[in-house]
Amino acid sequence: MNEIILLGTGGGRIVVFQGIRSSGGILIKYEEKIVFVDPGPGALGGLIKNKIYPNKIDSIWVTHKDLDHTGELNIIVEGMTEGGFKKRGKIFLPEEVLKENILLSYLREYVEEIKIIKELDSYEVCGLKIKTSPRHNHRETECYGFIIENFSFGYLVDTKPEENIIKFYSGLDILLVNCVLLEPKEGVYHISLRDIPFVYEITKPKKLILTHFGMRLLRFGFKNISEFLSKYKISFGLAYDNMKIKF
Ligand SMILES: [Zn+2]
Repeated sequence: MNEIILLGTGGGRIVVFQGIRSSGGILIKYEEKIVFVDPGPGALGGLIKNKIYPNKIDSIWVTHKDLDHTGELNIIVEGMTEGGFKKRGKIFLPEEVLKENILLSYLREYVEEIKIIKELDSYEVCGLKIKTSPRHNHRETECYGFIIENFSFGYLVDTKPEENIIKFYSGLDILLVNCVLLEPKEGVYHISLRDIPFVYEITKPKKLILTHFGMRLLRFGFKNISEFLSKYKISFGLAYDNMKIKF
Protein backbone atom coordinates (compact mmCIF):
# COMPACT_ATOMS: atom_id res chain seq x y z
CA MET A 1 0.00 0.00 0.00
CA ASN A 2 1.20 3.51 -0.79
CA GLU A 3 1.25 5.78 2.21
CA ILE A 4 2.96 8.69 3.88
CA ILE A 5 3.81 8.37 7.57
CA LEU A 6 4.39 11.56 9.53
CA LEU A 7 6.99 10.35 12.01
CA GLY A 8 7.29 13.78 13.59
CA THR A 9 4.91 16.73 13.72
CA GLY A 10 6.71 19.12 16.08
CA GLY A 11 8.33 22.39 15.02
CA GLY A 12 9.93 25.36 16.73
CA ARG A 13 12.69 25.29 19.31
CA ILE A 14 10.76 24.36 22.44
CA VAL A 15 8.66 21.57 20.93
CA VAL A 16 11.60 20.00 19.08
CA PHE A 17 14.30 20.29 21.71
CA GLN A 18 12.17 19.45 24.70
CA GLY A 19 10.84 16.47 22.77
CA ILE A 20 7.20 17.48 23.24
CA ARG A 21 6.57 16.07 19.77
CA SER A 22 8.93 14.21 17.53
CA SER A 23 10.54 15.97 14.59
CA GLY A 24 11.56 12.72 12.93
CA GLY A 25 10.48 13.58 9.38
CA ILE A 26 8.25 11.87 6.85
CA LEU A 27 8.33 8.40 5.32
CA ILE A 28 6.95 7.85 1.86
CA LYS A 29 6.16 4.23 1.07
CA TYR A 30 5.63 3.69 -2.63
CA GLU A 31 5.48 0.35 -4.45
CA GLU A 32 7.71 -1.46 -1.92
CA LYS A 33 10.19 1.43 -1.85
CA ILE A 34 10.77 3.81 1.04
CA VAL A 35 11.87 7.43 0.82
CA PHE A 36 12.81 9.24 4.01
CA VAL A 37 12.19 13.00 3.98
CA ASP A 38 13.97 15.21 6.53
CA PRO A 39 15.31 12.80 9.18
CA GLY A 40 15.32 15.10 12.19
CA PRO A 41 15.35 14.30 15.93
CA GLY A 42 13.31 11.12 16.46
CA ALA A 43 13.93 9.67 12.98
CA LEU A 44 15.48 6.38 14.02
CA GLY A 45 13.05 5.81 16.90
CA GLY A 46 10.13 6.57 14.59
CA LEU A 47 11.33 4.05 12.03
CA ILE A 48 11.78 1.29 14.58
CA LYS A 49 8.34 2.03 16.02
CA ASN A 50 6.95 1.24 12.56
CA LYS A 51 9.11 -1.90 12.40
CA ILE A 52 11.08 -0.48 9.50
CA TYR A 53 14.82 -0.91 9.79
CA PRO A 54 17.08 1.74 8.28
CA ASN A 55 18.59 -0.75 5.83
CA LYS A 56 15.17 -0.84 4.13
CA ILE A 57 15.36 2.84 3.18
CA ASP A 58 15.95 3.38 -0.53
CA SER A 59 16.35 7.15 -0.76
CA ILE A 60 16.64 10.18 1.49
CA TRP A 61 15.35 13.64 0.61
CA VAL A 62 16.35 16.78 2.54
CA THR A 63 14.42 20.05 2.18
CA HIS A 64 16.94 22.23 4.06
CA LYS A 65 19.81 22.11 6.50
CA ASP A 66 18.13 23.05 9.81
CA LEU A 67 18.60 20.60 12.67
CA ASP A 68 14.92 19.78 13.03
CA HIS A 69 15.16 18.44 9.45
CA THR A 70 18.65 16.90 9.49
CA GLY A 71 19.45 16.06 13.14
CA GLU A 72 19.52 12.32 12.45
CA LEU A 73 20.47 12.46 8.76
CA ASN A 74 23.88 10.91 9.42
CA ILE A 75 22.40 8.19 11.61
CA ILE A 76 19.90 7.21 8.91
CA VAL A 77 22.62 7.18 6.21
CA GLU A 78 24.81 4.98 8.40
CA GLY A 79 21.84 2.66 9.02
CA MET A 80 20.69 2.64 5.38
CA THR A 81 24.14 1.51 4.23
CA GLU A 82 24.76 -0.85 7.16
CA GLY A 83 27.72 1.17 8.32
CA GLY A 84 29.11 1.42 4.81
CA PHE A 85 29.23 -2.34 4.23
CA LYS A 86 26.48 -2.02 1.63
CA LYS A 87 26.87 0.82 -0.83
CA ARG A 88 23.28 1.73 -1.46
CA GLY A 89 20.69 4.47 -1.54
CA LYS A 90 20.46 7.92 -3.04
CA ILE A 91 20.36 11.23 -1.23
CA PHE A 92 18.67 14.31 -2.67
CA LEU A 93 19.62 17.56 -0.94
CA PRO A 94 20.26 21.30 -1.37
CA GLU A 95 23.93 22.08 -1.99
CA GLU A 96 24.15 23.96 1.30
CA VAL A 97 23.79 20.68 3.23
CA LEU A 98 27.05 19.48 1.68
CA LYS A 99 28.87 22.81 1.88
CA GLU A 100 28.21 23.15 5.58
CA ASN A 101 29.12 19.52 6.26
CA ILE A 102 25.72 18.68 7.68
CA LEU A 103 26.22 15.32 5.91
CA LEU A 104 29.50 13.97 7.27
CA SER A 105 32.10 13.52 4.54
CA TYR A 106 32.97 9.87 5.28
CA LEU A 107 29.29 8.88 4.86
CA ARG A 108 29.21 10.35 1.36
CA GLU A 109 31.23 7.39 0.11
CA TYR A 110 28.66 4.93 1.47
CA VAL A 111 25.77 5.90 -0.78
CA GLU A 112 25.18 5.20 -4.46
CA GLU A 113 24.55 8.77 -5.42
CA ILE A 114 24.19 12.24 -3.98
CA LYS A 115 22.03 14.47 -6.09
CA ILE A 116 21.86 18.22 -5.56
CA ILE A 117 18.35 19.62 -5.83
CA LYS A 118 17.54 23.05 -7.23
CA GLU A 119 14.39 25.11 -7.37
CA LEU A 120 11.67 24.34 -9.93
CA ASP A 121 13.18 21.11 -11.16
CA SER A 122 11.88 17.53 -11.53
CA TYR A 123 13.37 14.40 -10.01
CA GLU A 124 12.59 10.72 -10.22
CA VAL A 125 12.93 9.13 -6.78
CA CYS A 126 12.07 5.42 -6.50
CA GLY A 127 9.38 5.84 -9.16
CA LEU A 128 8.01 9.02 -7.59
CA LYS A 129 7.89 12.14 -9.72
CA ILE A 130 8.96 14.96 -7.43
CA LYS A 131 8.92 18.62 -8.45
CA THR A 132 10.73 21.20 -6.33
CA SER A 133 9.16 24.53 -5.43
CA PRO A 134 10.66 27.97 -5.91
CA ARG A 135 13.29 28.63 -3.24
CA HIS A 136 11.50 29.30 0.01
CA ASN A 137 12.07 32.43 2.07
CA HIS A 138 13.43 30.86 5.25
CA ARG A 139 16.11 33.18 6.58
CA GLU A 140 19.15 32.76 4.33
CA THR A 141 18.68 28.99 4.29
CA GLU A 142 18.50 27.15 0.98
CA CYS A 143 15.12 25.48 1.33
CA TYR A 144 12.71 23.87 -1.15
CA GLY A 145 9.32 22.27 -0.70
CA PHE A 146 7.97 19.84 -3.25
CA ILE A 147 5.03 18.22 -4.99
CA ILE A 148 4.73 14.48 -5.58
CA GLU A 149 2.83 14.19 -8.83
CA ASN A 150 1.93 10.50 -8.35
CA PHE A 151 -0.17 11.35 -5.28
CA SER A 152 -1.19 14.95 -6.04
CA PHE A 153 0.48 15.71 -2.72
CA GLY A 154 2.45 18.81 -1.75
CA TYR A 155 4.72 19.55 1.18
CA LEU A 156 4.92 23.26 1.95
CA VAL A 157 7.90 23.31 4.31
CA ASP A 158 9.32 26.19 6.31
CA THR A 159 8.96 29.59 4.64
CA LYS A 160 7.51 33.03 4.98
CA PRO A 161 4.08 32.85 3.37
CA GLU A 162 4.65 34.73 0.13
CA GLU A 163 2.26 34.45 -2.77
CA ASN A 164 4.91 33.82 -5.44
CA ILE A 165 6.11 30.77 -3.46
CA ILE A 166 2.76 29.47 -2.28
CA LYS A 167 1.01 29.51 -5.64
CA PHE A 168 3.34 26.68 -6.73
CA TYR A 169 1.27 24.37 -4.51
CA SER A 170 -2.09 25.11 -6.16
CA GLY A 171 -4.82 22.59 -6.93
CA LEU A 172 -3.54 19.48 -5.13
CA ASP A 173 -5.50 16.73 -3.41
CA ILE A 174 -3.49 17.04 -0.20
CA LEU A 175 -1.28 19.90 0.93
CA LEU A 176 0.82 19.36 4.06
CA VAL A 177 1.81 22.70 5.58
CA ASN A 178 4.46 23.44 8.19
CA CYS A 179 2.48 25.80 10.39
CA VAL A 180 4.78 26.69 13.28
CA LEU A 181 3.36 29.90 14.70
CA LEU A 182 0.10 31.08 16.17
CA GLU A 183 0.56 34.57 14.73
CA PRO A 184 3.06 36.09 12.30
CA LYS A 185 6.18 37.21 14.13
CA GLU A 186 8.69 39.82 13.00
CA GLY A 187 11.95 38.19 11.91
CA VAL A 188 10.60 34.62 12.06
CA TYR A 189 10.39 33.01 8.63
CA HIS A 190 7.48 30.67 9.23
CA ILE A 191 3.80 30.26 8.41
CA SER A 192 1.36 31.01 11.22
CA LEU A 193 -2.21 29.87 11.83
CA ARG A 194 -3.40 33.39 10.88
CA ASP A 195 -1.77 32.93 7.47
CA ILE A 196 -3.59 29.67 6.72
CA PRO A 197 -6.73 31.26 5.19
CA PHE A 198 -4.40 33.17 2.82
CA VAL A 199 -2.49 29.95 1.96
CA TYR A 200 -5.79 28.14 1.39
CA GLU A 201 -7.23 30.90 -0.78
CA ILE A 202 -4.24 30.68 -3.14
CA THR A 203 -3.74 26.90 -3.21
CA LYS A 204 -7.28 25.49 -2.74
CA PRO A 205 -6.29 21.86 -1.99
CA LYS A 206 -9.00 19.26 -1.46
CA LYS A 207 -7.52 18.83 2.00
CA LEU A 208 -4.99 20.87 3.91
CA ILE A 209 -3.10 19.19 6.75
CA LEU A 210 -1.22 21.25 9.32
CA THR A 211 1.98 19.94 10.91
CA HIS A 212 5.29 21.16 12.47
CA PHE A 213 3.47 22.82 15.36
CA GLY A 214 5.29 25.26 17.62
CA MET A 215 4.65 25.63 21.34
CA ARG A 216 2.20 28.55 21.31
CA LEU A 217 0.10 26.79 18.71
CA LEU A 218 -0.02 23.58 20.76
CA ARG A 219 -0.97 25.58 23.86
CA PHE A 220 -3.70 27.35 21.88
CA GLY A 221 -5.09 23.84 21.37
CA PHE A 222 -6.64 21.82 18.57
CA LYS A 223 -10.17 22.81 19.56
CA ASN A 224 -9.39 26.50 19.07
CA ILE A 225 -7.40 25.84 15.90
CA SER A 226 -10.36 23.90 14.48
CA GLU A 227 -12.81 26.66 15.40
CA PHE A 228 -10.62 29.24 13.70
CA LEU A 229 -10.27 27.23 10.47
CA SER A 230 -13.95 26.28 10.35
CA LYS A 231 -14.85 29.97 10.03
CA TYR A 232 -13.10 29.98 6.67
CA LYS A 233 -14.71 26.73 5.50
CA ILE A 234 -11.32 25.10 5.05
CA SER A 235 -11.22 21.33 4.65
CA PHE A 236 -8.36 20.52 7.01
CA GLY A 237 -6.64 17.92 9.18
CA LEU A 238 -4.31 18.40 12.15
CA ALA A 239 -1.33 16.06 12.17
CA TYR A 240 -0.14 13.89 15.05
CA ASP A 241 3.02 11.82 15.43
CA ASN A 242 2.90 8.64 13.36
CA MET A 243 -0.17 9.75 11.41
CA LYS A 244 -0.62 7.78 8.20
CA ILE A 245 -1.97 9.20 4.95
CA LYS A 246 -2.99 6.48 2.48
CA PHE A 247 -2.95 6.83 -1.29
ZN1 LIG B 1 11.57 23.30 10.52
